Amino acid sequence: MNVQTFVQPTPGSPIELADTSITAESPASLPSLLELSQPELAELVAQQGQPAFRARQLWEWIYKHYAADFDEMTNLPKTLRTALAATATVNPLSLVTQVVSAAGDTQKVLFRLPDGKTIEAVLMIYDKRRTLCISSQAGCGMGCTFCATALGGLGRNLTAGEIVAQVLYFARYLARPEAEPKMAIARPTAVTNIVLMGMGEPMHNYRNVWTALRRLTDADAFGLGARHITLSTVGLIPMIDRMADEGLQINLAVSLHAPNDKLRNQLVPINARYPVAELLAAVERYITKTNRRVTFEYALMAGINDSQPLALELATKLRALHCHVNVIPLNPVPDSPFQPTSDQETQRFVQTLNENGVPATVRIRRGIEINAGCGQLQRAMESA
Ligand code: SAH
Repeated sequence: MNVQTFVQPTPGSPIELADTSITAESPASLPSLLELSQPELAELVAQQGQPAFRARQLWEWIYKHYAADFDEMTNLPKTLRTALAATATVNPLSLVTQVVSAAGDTQKVLFRLPDGKTIEAVLMIYDKRRTLCISSQAGCGMGCTFCATALGGLGRNLTAGEIVAQVLYFARYLARPEAEPKMAIARPTAVTNIVLMGMGEPMHNYRNVWTALRRLTDADAFGLGARHITLSTVGLIPMIDRMADEGLQINLAVSLHAPNDKLRNQLVPINARYPVAELLAAVERYITKTNRRVTFEYALMAGINDSQPLALELATKLRALHCHVNVIPLNPVPDSPFQPTSDQETQRFVQTLNENGVPATVRIRRGIEINAGCGQLQRAMESA
């Protein structure tokens, strides 16, 4: 493993100062405006006796200028800002830590929610893309046996505002060159891609996730193209069918990790309820209805799911589907019996899929040294 020393924000920087505990009086315990739709925000502003254009200004401060504080909203009357600050907050997240990889191209953040639970988000900077990996739940109830988040179980669903807030945090960070931590590489200016691959099962928090996705894709709000967003699921079949009817071109990724029930039951326990054949049938319905290519995720674990017969079995089952397989080198989880497959065996697995009619690539591993795997920063902080 290529473990390098990682760069921590300098002690005493604003990053560390942001690590304050939440008290009953803390603004973070007030309701966040990120939970409101545009009409709801308009109503709130009207209740303050203000004209409708003020609501529009407020909305734009939040979603176009990524303001996290009412003080920044300089074209709003001071009286309105004071009144709003007394009853609401913009950002429901407080920063616990922001860690930068040695190469400077991956950043991982641990946020604290108003009730004290913590969640993670990761920013990955590539040549042409800035991909943000965000959480949909605090913890996760799916119990995948190789996943760090699963170890702590489900805390709770995130609200739509808490999901959107993770994106606005990084949008703000990228848009403001002076924001800490400083970057060793030229700072790009915008988030270009979002993946729901952080903590949690997005389809287990369907309603809030979709409220957030609509806010993020709404041209009037954050305005990111749906095709630049990927929702990753363990495979909750009824929700895959529901997603097919949403009419938004969000990409679907399914965490398969095994081609048959015997093996998948051991890795992904929810498979007992939604077995492989039924899951693949649901994916086929999804593809037929949406005309969109689906991604399967397959994390390779040495001696578990990486053999040539399994690669062939996988290829046989996926060949007829309009899909792509993302082969993921396993992020090792401390005390876990699962180990990553060697690079050579990984290439062989991918080659077998390709030779048998299934497009497959290895997903480049990022941020190993900053615990950027799902649920890993939170566990590292807890045990520190
Ligand atoms: N619950 C969703 C999304 C969160 S996890 C899902 O299951 O898809 C995002 C991806 O990371 C999933 O494919 C998940 O199986 C995978 N993953 C979890 N732990 C991992 C680990 N230790 N190494 C590599 N991938 C892992």
